[in-house]
Amino acid sequence: MEKLLNEYREQQCAKIDENLKIVRERINEAAIKSGRTAEDIRLMVVTKTIEPCFINHVIDNSGVTLIGENRVQELLSKKPKLHLDDVEVHLIGHLQTNKVRQVVGEVSTIQSVDRLKVAKEISKQSQKQGITTNVLIEVNIGGEESKFGTTIENAPDLCYQISELPNIKVQGLMTIPPICDDEKVLRQHFSDMKKLFIDIEYKKIDNIYMKILSMGMSSDYYEAILEGANLVRIGSSIFGARQY
Ligand SMILES: *Cc1c(COP(=O)(O)O)cnc(C)c1O
Repeated sequence: MEKLLNEYREQQCAKIDENLKIVRERINEAAIKSGRTAEDIRLMVVTKTIEPCFINHVIDNSGVTLIGENRVQELLSKKPKLHLDDVEVHLIGHLQTNKVRQVVGEVSTIQSVDRLKVAKEISKQSQKQGITTNVLIEVNIGGEESKFGTTIENAPDLCYQISELPNIKVQGLMTIPPICDDEKVLRQHFSDMKKLFIDIEYKKIDNIYMKILSMGMSSDYYEAILEGANLVRIGSSIFGARQY
């Protein structure tokens, strides 16, 4: 049994290595097409539902330096088992205000801030701990009812409001675009995000930095990079389809 399990793990790890190589090649290709290089694009490996042994495999063997988790509970229970000495952890899933206290201090960036209430709580809990928490503003670029995120129109105001708060620093924007087969429409969403990113940067708001444009997942990271993403969040293209 033990032997079978080990063999299974080894096969899985070999597959993951292969997938990761392909993802990196495509990132490189899209980066060059967009007038940049692979070094300009940060790869986040999305580790939700993935067992720690596989996460540690990519950390130890493949130079992965950034991972993302969706749920506070899963993140906290997996964290002690992970080899995180040289790795940054971000929260990328929707965050309820009542979970903020548990996650502040456990991640370097919260990518899913979409309303003032949650930002205020992050600020308050960070102040209590004497730290500053980096956040991204999540934008619902397709205006979908089912998705979290602020609107394009509201994003600058939210930045102004957050800029008044202590111990929280906006570092950029994040989005999950609508599922869409039409490459043109998809690229338009990403390019709208890039435009918003530049618009907010030009406003030169105190304490608001537009450094990270987090967009692109397994199905659309190539297009996201072509339109200016500098951080892509990739799970299933590396680990295979998730089993919940
Ligand atoms: C799950 C998830 C991803 C990764 O999705 P894949 O399609 O598996 O690459 C990226 N971003 C967020 C916010 C996610 O929840």
